[in-house]
Amino acid sequence: MLAVIAGSAAHHVLNGLGVAAGDLAPVETPFGGSSPLGLGEVGGSPAIVLARHGAGEYDLAAPFVNYRANLYALKDQSVTKVIAWSGPGAIDDTLAIGQYGIPEDVLDETYGRASTYFAGTGLGVIRQSPVFCPRLRAGLAAASEAEGRPARCGGTYVCTQGPRLETPAEIRKYRLLGGDYVGMTLCPEVFLARELEICYAAILYVTNYAEGVRPAPAQPDRLFGGLMSPEEERAQHDAVEALPAVVGRAARLLTSLSEPCTCQRSMERYRRSGRIASDWRDWMGSA
Ligand SMILES: [Zn+2]
Repeated sequence: MLAVIAGSAAHHVLNGLGVAAGDLAPVETPFGGSSPLGLGEVGGSPAIVLARHGAGEYDLAAPFVNYRANLYALKDQSVTKVIAWSGPGAIDDTLAIGQYGIPEDVLDETYGRASTYFAGTGLGVIRQSPVFCPRLRAGLAAASEAEGRPARCGGTYVCTQGPRLETPAEIRKYRLLGGDYVGMTLCPEVFLARELEICYAAILYVTNYAEGVRPAPAQPDRLFGGLMSPEEERAQHDAVEALPAVVGRAARLLTSLSEPCTCQRSMERYRRSGRIASDWRDWMGSA
């Protein structure tokens, strides 16, 4: 089973994923309530759709999303693959607004987020390279190309804590560290998927230029305080509208791809040594 974690602006395109906002509901888990999710259709097959920030107009900002509950709920629905979307800012000014990106690495600058299922246990010492599932990344790359909106493949996504936006000095720091995109959502989501042996990859659509990358006078009455021009808002909106088609095509392509991935065996060492039970629900540490 595939799941799509739909990011901000999800409510505009839920119908493209075969669901309506009213079809989505939170699920209670040992880690608390999840974001609303429901059964949709992606690429002609049933798929779970989870609206990370709620089914409305950005009901829940990134630092307050219950990432553990979300991934737990998906695993509980027999999800083995997750395609997540997110709309970061561009640190690299050669990126265009509305352009798709398929990152290959992350810098986790978040703090205080519940980032593991294994608190209080000896589990969870898991390698993080490749960070994202190579097979899903290949599927997304081919799908974006086929849909006429080729994604930039590669690059590093910096995940900040939020909900505030970054300072100019922070963006300069992230550029020095090799960051290309800056957003607030992929961590710890990507790491939790690995703990649950779920393939996970992200498709990004560039929303704006990060603070200080391009001149942008303060406009407190506008989204992101004026970091986006009206033309950029339209380009970003077009990119979001096209996401269901790209994700659907990627889902159809996946069966024909042979890229090896080990995501679904990430806990193999613990399994072999008898340290974890056959039921993944029994792996969990303190909730
Ligand atoms: Zn994988």
